[in-house]
Amino acid sequence: MSSSTVLSSSQQLLSHGKKIVCIGRNYAEHAKELGNAVPKEPFFFLKPTTSYIRSGSKIEIPNTGGSVHHEIELGVVIGARGKDVTESDAMQLVRGYVLALDLTDRTLQGEAKKAGKPWTIAKGFDTFCPISDNMVSSIPPTARLWCKVNGEMRQDGPISDMIFPIPKLISFISGIMTLEENDLILTGTPSGVGPIVPGDVIEGGLDDLLQLKFDVTAKGN
Ligand code: MG
Repeated sequence: MSSSTVLSSSQQLLSHGKKIVCIGRNYAEHAKELGNAVPKEPFFFLKPTTSYIRSGSKIEIPNTGGSVHHEIELGVVIGARGKDVTESDAMQLVRGYVLALDLTDRTLQGEAKKAGKPWTIAKGFDTFCPISDNMVSSIPPTARLWCKVNGEMRQDGPISDMIFPIPKLISFISGIMTLEENDLILTGTPSGVGPIVPGDVIEGGLDDLLQLKFDVTAKGN
């Protein structure tokens, strides 16, 4: 298949998704902008599948009073079951790629870090995992992730800047938990994260292969 082959839509993730595994601090500049060290091995947290939305739905800002940040990320859709997968076999598990936002209540995340609470508190709200409608079978290694808020470019970075590449991530995660069909791995975000508020419009892309666009509203509106 060519790099731009469009697979069946990402709707199956909303219907049949099992888990969302999110890699933290996988881009050095992003780790730095939040005052964190670059990790020596991958680390991750989980988001619930109830956080998925696709186009036609709105991002809802919860009533926590916290600052909600955008994080544009490449999502790897798993197509086959795998446990203890080697890096050399890892890509056999990949069905395709989607674009996603790992939305984060940064204020709550800061409090969770201090209190030793899980990041899911800050990242697991309903609507906090918007995904692109389309999914592609492969992507060029030179592809760039970008994210605009109200037309202003906030994030723009090449996926080649990932500290741990996709085969390493799959191998590492599958050494801890079985990966299954319709799992999604979010691979981390480039620098430039920042706040979004009700009324904003957020757009993202991976080159011209994957796109997303969502309106932001307050929960309950
Ligand atoms: Mg993230």
